[in-house]
Amino acid sequence: MTKARTFSEISTLRERNALAVKEAKEKGRRVVGTYCLYSPAEMVVAAGAIPVMLCGTSQNPVPAAEKVLPRNLCPLIKSSYGFAVTDTCPYFHFADLLIAETTCDGKKKMYELLGEMKPLHLMQLPQVQDDAALSYWTGEMVRLKRRMEEDFSVEITDDRLREAISLVNDERRSLKEFQDVCKYNPSPISGMDMLTVLHNRGFTVDKREAIELVDRLTAELREMAEFGVSPFTPSTPRILLSGVPVGIGSDKVVRLIEECGGSVVCFESCGAYKKVEPVEETGDPLAALADRYLRIPCSCMSPNQGRLSLVEQLVREFRADGVVDLTWQGCHTYNIESFSLKKHVQGTAEVPFLQIETDYSESDTEQLKVRIEAFLEMINRAKRTG
Ligand code: SF4
Ligand code: SF4
Repeated sequence: MTKARTFSEISTLRERNALAVKEAKEKGRRVVGTYCLYSPAEMVVAAGAIPVMLCGTSQNPVPAAEKVLPRNLCPLIKSSYGFAVTDTCPYFHFADLLIAETTCDGKKKMYELLGEMKPLHLMQLPQVQDDAALSYWTGEMVRLKRRMEEDFSVEITDDRLREAISLVNDERRSLKEFQDVCKYNPSPISGMDMLTVLHNRGFTVDKREAIELVDRLTAELREMAEFGVSPFTPSTPRILLSGVPVGIGSDKVVRLIEECGGSVVCFESCGAYKKVEPVEETGDPLAALADRYLRIPCSCMSPNQGRLSLVEQLVREFRADGVVDLTWQGCHTYNIESFSLKKHVQGTAEVPFLQIETDYSESDTEQLKVRIEAFLEMINRAKRTG
């Protein structure tokens, strides 16, 4: 398969940057670990610290986590806790402060345990997106700002926040343009490679360096697309993957879709398209942050109409032939929401919909393969009959 030149540089970022984070710490930089899209990276940047994403995407530390946590809990929570308790994630190891939010029940109770290992600041996230909630959440932004100012002995001025907002908005612009190359048919990059980039680019000490790398990759991919270079053909079924966060290590379903003959052209999840909407750059920066972050359409919000509209929009923009809604076992919010999403997708976009509930293990791989093959065959049949 032909790959863009910059791809290999980005695919090794995670390993290379563990060392860079260590060196930055030795020079006095602070490191802040986050677990969720509701954590405002701008606040960390404005404090002069390095934000690192600590969401566990590997099955390896799950058995250690299960010594404390229930086995039927979401694998993302078990993996995140497992890395912490086994001290096997260098990014957790170097973190000076963790930012956490009250999203789902499993995560917020797990944070109580993490708080015994590291300094942790818990943001109380409202679970509705109205004016009263926005006013409360703005107060939570103020509390976070004060905590970081106290812990790191810095002043987070409005100007510093505005600069950080502008930088993170540029990162969002870059990520959106990268993902949008998959609007070409066929897409010049596989879903697995796209996931590798989305996962690894976050592990950079210098956000500008990551933006430059992703922009370079996007330019190469556009050129490939113009020349028709692709791992797929124009008739390959185009799949939109919605649902829970995925990363390298929790990529089983993405891999299976592509091994079975599909092309994952869009990820609706937190590390991908849910992330790209910018923060307003005028007015009060704290209010702008609160407004943008509260609007994130995670299933912990009730109601969560924003996610239904986002998936509908993405199906149209990426010309998806089908939606696969991935939900982790033990994730009640995404599992239950799948019913409403299916009804919405079938009623608006009129494309086939498949819900897959699984975990990080390989125990159900063969069973999933059969279901995915049947789903893709249904799409292929529909395409043939026009
Ligand atoms: S799915 Fe929800 S709880 Fe999970 S990372 Fe995204 S915003 Fe946070
Ligand atoms: S996938 Fe679901 S259960 Fe797991 S952390 Fe996210 S919202 Fe919570």
